[in-house]
Amino acid sequence: MQEQNCVIVGAGLSGLYVARALTRSAAAFCVLEARERAGGRILSRAAAASVLPDARFDLGPAWVWPAFQPLMTELIGQLGLPLFQQATSGDSLYEEAAQPEPLRLSDQSPHAESRRFVGGAGRLIEALCASLPADRLRLGQTVTRVTATDTGVTVHHRDAAGPSILRARRAVLALPPRLLAATVAFDPPLPPALRRRLAATPTWMAAHAKLLALYDRPFWREQGLSGEAFSRRGPLTEIYDASPAEGGPYALFGFYGMPAAARRAIGREGLIARGLAQLERLFGGAAARPIECLLKDWSDSPLTATPEDAIPPPGHPEYGLGDQTRTLWDGRLMLAGTESSARSGGYLEGALEAGREVADLLSDRHA
Ligand SMILES: Cc1cc2nc3c(=O)[nH]c(=O)nc-3n(C[C@H](O)[C@H](O)[C@H](O)COP(=O)(O)OP(=O)(O)OC[C@H]3O[C@@H](n4cnc5c(N)ncnc54)[C@H](O)[C@@H]3O)c2cc1C
Repeated sequence: MQEQNCVIVGAGLSGLYVARALTRSAAAFCVLEARERAGGRILSRAAAASVLPDARFDLGPAWVWPAFQPLMTELIGQLGLPLFQQATSGDSLYEEAAQPEPLRLSDQSPHAESRRFVGGAGRLIEALCASLPADRLRLGQTVTRVTATDTGVTVHHRDAAGPSILRARRAVLALPPRLLAATVAFDPPLPPALRRRLAATPTWMAAHAKLLALYDRPFWREQGLSGEAFSRRGPLTEIYDASPAEGGPYALFGFYGMPAAARRAIGREGLIARGLAQLERLFGGAAARPIECLLKDWSDSPLTATPEDAIPPPGHPEYGLGDQTRTLWDGRLMLAGTESSARSGGYLEGALEAGREVADLLSDRHA
């Protein structure tokens, strides 16, 4: 059995940010990640049709807001990652449920302050992973149980070869609270009130599905349109330009407004067909002929969503789990992850806020 100062569970943005802080303090640590990739909800994919290496498309988060997100701004600066402005010039469209023609609006876009990563948000994860010492990140390791011992914790995990355990002084659990409550056992059990709170915390955006339609021309820009559309008719309720910083393939993306169960009943091909029919209705015939479509339904991802996440919360929840969740089991067990941040919970910035709070506590305790 191997021993570590700290085991971080989850190689999403929050877990990797804690790992980066531990790298700087030279503590012995490792990160256990259940997926065969790092990044969690951050996922950028290249298009099969693309010849440009930087043309990658965000199936998870796309936007940062440097004007309001000091930790993201600092990290992006440290890693030297270029950003570009979300394309917003041109008119937007608004579709009412019972209205045959969309309204054309020239109001200022709510995304004037939004910035995107050149090459997709996945660049942030690649840069963070590259900054970790070799062999600290272990992919394909699903944590199933955490046990308190006299001097620390025992972390039970499994991979394709079977179960293993790791001993450490502390464990940082950087995964969505609801998923944690549903899939990881604790010995001794977590207090019932905390368990209920974790289970009741919606995983931000886990209920949603995103369609990206890729084109060889930005035909909407040629019509003086920004690519932004809001629709009460659907199936896509919000649509934006998702083209790379420079060159093509050019892209539009939209969020489906229908519940996860309805999406499942329609199926992948049906969803793509309905999404394209709407894009054609809004932007004309060229929209019906993409060179490729990418679809990601996060409610189908068992390492992000639980069945309870099939119904999205009515608005942005008030996140935060309380200070005690940073110091469970006398500081041997700490929760991170964006939903544990009271300030910017749900957002990328919240993942860093939670990671920073945990990293500061670890450094106070010389983890
Ligand atoms: C479609 C979509 C659009 C979004 N848009 C934006 C946006 O534009 N801007 C923004 O700021 N935010 C956005 N978000 C939210 C943003 O993605 C999250 O705030 C952020 O990525 C959360 O990071 P995290 O590290 O807290 O959690 P996660 O990314 O969920 O990471 C948790 C990690 O834990 C791993 N894991 C789970 N269970 C186990 C286990 N048992 N053992 C080991 N590992 C495990 C998972 O595989 C995952 O890698 C969006 C999210 C989605 C899905």
